[in-house]
Amino acid sequence: MQPVVAAQSTAIHLLNCFTCNARVPARLRTGTLCLLVETDCGLVLVDTGLGEADYAHKTAILRAFQVVTRLPLNPDETAVRQVVSLGYRPEDVQEIVLTHMHFDHCGGLPDFPWARVHVHRRELEAFQGRPKRWTDLAYVRRQIAHKPEFALYSETGERWFDQAAIRLPFAPEMWLVPLYGHTRGHCGVAVRTESGWHFHVGDAGPVGLDAYTPDWLARAVLGPHTPRLRAFRDAHPEIVMTTGHMWLDFFEAGLGG
Ligand SMILES: [Zn+2]
Repeated sequence: MQPVVAAQSTAIHLLNCFTCNARVPARLRTGTLCLLVETDCGLVLVDTGLGEADYAHKTAILRAFQVVTRLPLNPDETAVRQVVSLGYRPEDVQEIVLTHMHFDHCGGLPDFPWARVHVHRRELEAFQGRPKRWTDLAYVRRQIAHKPEFALYSETGERWFDQAAIRLPFAPEMWLVPLYGHTRGHCGVAVRTESGWHFHVGDAGPVGLDAYTPDWLARAVLGPHTPRLRAFRDAHPEIVMTTGHMWLDFFEAGLGG
């Protein structure tokens, strides 16, 4: 199978790095969105999806997902294979930014063992600490067993639009936008692309920000931000907004949305 790749411009590629479909209803098919951004520091990968080791030795949580969802589990969806099929070398990815450290967002870290990993300090602390809530069970320790170099961030008082944000050390501009709730250190990532801002809100909102999710469920699983993020999207139609999990149509359409 060809990797599912959509290029928004020459500067940013939208990759599906883990397909996860509902059993019922079967039409609910999603991919896990990772951004591959061309910057002055080389390629910056935002989230990784699953990695080669997840296919070779399935984690307990992945086996649990296999029971409750339909997973094609195609290793061609790994970020490292898609980077290669885009014509780059894996070593061209020297920097990885994480929205959060759940298994479906950072499983690919071991495929880029040399890469520096940029994440909010609170998120790494939550990952390494004792589980405090059921969503912490989606942290898989072995995914950082290779001991990557971390660049950790905390709030600085800066803002991106009307939101507290932390500037990342790349050009074009990239910002970590704290959106706590899904996990204790979860952040969105804003990227200035050739065609304008792209705001990836990770798992702070339901699929495409549009999927119907009861308020109590969204709040429990995704955190409190969905209404505010929808209002921000309505106020800024010029900004492309994506979520950590997007309908497969988004990737198949080649441009998203
Ligand atoms: Zn998550």
